[in-house]
Amino acid sequence: MLVSAKEMLVKAKAGHYAVGQFNINNLEWTKAILQTAQELNSPVILGVSEGAGKYMCGFKTVTDMVKAMIDELKITVPVALHLDHGTYEGCYRCIEAGFSSIMFDGSHYPIAENVEKTKELVRVCAEKGLSLEAEVGAIGGEEDGVIGMGECADPNECKQIADLGVTMLAAGIGNIHGKYPANWPGLSFETLAAISEKVGKMPLVLHGGTGIPADMIRKAISLGVSKINVNTECQLAFAAAVRKYVEEGKDLQGKGFDPRKLLAPGVEAIKATVREKMELFGSIGKA
Ligand SMILES: [Zn+2]
Repeated sequence: MLVSAKEMLVKAKAGHYAVGQFNINNLEWTKAILQTAQELNSPVILGVSEGAGKYMCGFKTVTDMVKAMIDELKITVPVALHLDHGTYEGCYRCIEAGFSSIMFDGSHYPIAENVEKTKELVRVCAEKGLSLEAEVGAIGGEEDGVIGMGECADPNECKQIADLGVTMLAAGIGNIHGKYPANWPGLSFETLAAISEKVGKMPLVLHGGTGIPADMIRKAISLGVSKINVNTECQLAFAAAVRKYVEEGKDLQGKGFDPRKLLAPGVEAIKATVREKMELFGSIGKA
């Protein structure tokens, strides 16, 4: 059964650990993440971007696959199926498709419009028992080959959005999506502490979890981050493992071309990455 992310994140915030959001792209990804969460008795959030949803033939296909897999694999740990960086329209499509959690990324709207749309989604999600993530201050990343250094959100705007009744809040604290540039100055703990003080018990979300040093992750958790998004790191691990298999010519040996064999090293690499992150985030045994 899918659950809202609310309870697991409130528990995480109170217990000073974080729950990982791992983005899925296909059946292998989903299976690897669910099995690892079950094995480690950890709550987990499966993230789906609109692009990944489209790739997997629509949100309904995703919901049905995840639900069936939870059933067939006898997954008993709490699992939330979450729309990552949803547009206004995308949020409604996922609500309809049976997602248990959504993120409305209204960070590109003027704050007044972000507030208005978020308010409406707070009401709809509350009615249906879904958790809702809002974003304040754009979280940068590579665009057209230029890597932004990551913005910092205004703590007062964070409070304004948090007070609307969202479940969790993503705020830019210098974090970015994708690989971090060599001259990245690091997370702004000053901003994080200021936001934390303003929003009180609201769980905070750290996007762009790939490549942030472990000590910074631990410090961010100690300052109120209770959900950390991991996407690129699983992709890099999967690609490297499958590349190695092919480069070693294993697809040419016997039935090595069988997709179940060809993709197996990639699946193992995702499992190892998820395990490493759950250890770092402290969510093992917290289901
Ligand atoms: Zn993000």
